[in-house]
Amino acid sequence: MRTPVIAGNWKMHNTIAESRSLVRELKQLIHDVTDVEVIVAPVFTSIGAVVAEVQGSSIKVAAQNMHWEMQGAYTGEVSPRMVKDAGCSHVIIGHSERRQYFAETNQTVNKKVRAALAAGLTPIMCIGETLAEREAGTTMQVVAEQVREGFAGMQATDISCCIIAYEPVWAIGTGKTATPAQAEEVHQAIRGIIAEIGSSSVAASMRILYGGSVKPDNIDELMREPDIDGALVGGASLKADSFFRIVRFQR
Ligand code: PEP
Repeated sequence: MRTPVIAGNWKMHNTIAESRSLVRELKQLIHDVTDVEVIVAPVFTSIGAVVAEVQGSSIKVAAQNMHWEMQGAYTGEVSPRMVKDAGCSHVIIGHSERRQYFAETNQTVNKKVRAALAAGLTPIMCIGETLAEREAGTTMQVVAEQVREGFAGMQATDISCCIIAYEPVWAIGTGKTATPAQAEEVHQAIRGIIAEIGSSSVAASMRILYGGSVKPDNIDELMREPDIDGALVGGASLKADSFFRIVRFQR
């Protein structure tokens, strides 16, 4: 059985004090949650404070990005081993905002996914089509290419250590959520591709999260779909009570 994952992407929000206070509130709320993996992704500057705060709880911490090199002359970048050293267990890779504003491609995503695994981090690889691609009817091709190129050259055992977040770009931060049926259709297709490039058992165990305007009032219906294993949550993860309601989804 796949343990559901609910991950909060705080994006470029919260100072150290604000991050500490948010995670403290969350820690109180989720102290008895054992059946869902809960992850928060603060900005780099808040990671240390959040890692210290989650000690003694089951909350895990992710970085929102990293470089693929372990060290070197890359001013302004943070490496996989630094992310690990700071106390993160997970790292979000290839978020659509990184693809859109920072020129990330399936090729850089592939380098980062491999580097994350090499550093002992679990990559949460983000994929998803734009509105123009959906309207042109190319969603399945776009997503298939993102999965194949994102995992290019990797062994099934390595692919099995990753999490995928399917986030239609038109649904991120827009208030427009994919319908459960739209999301399920793509999740099923992604699982099919994982079976081809990995194996059927890797596909069966892979957690595929949905992301895109997930809120307390739509999480339940999304989680009732058989191939939706959790959510990557942006806006609604910035308030402890709304994020907690998402963590406590009802199937
Ligand atoms: C995200 O940041 O990955 C995201 C899905 O944002 P939002 O929930 O705000 O749409």
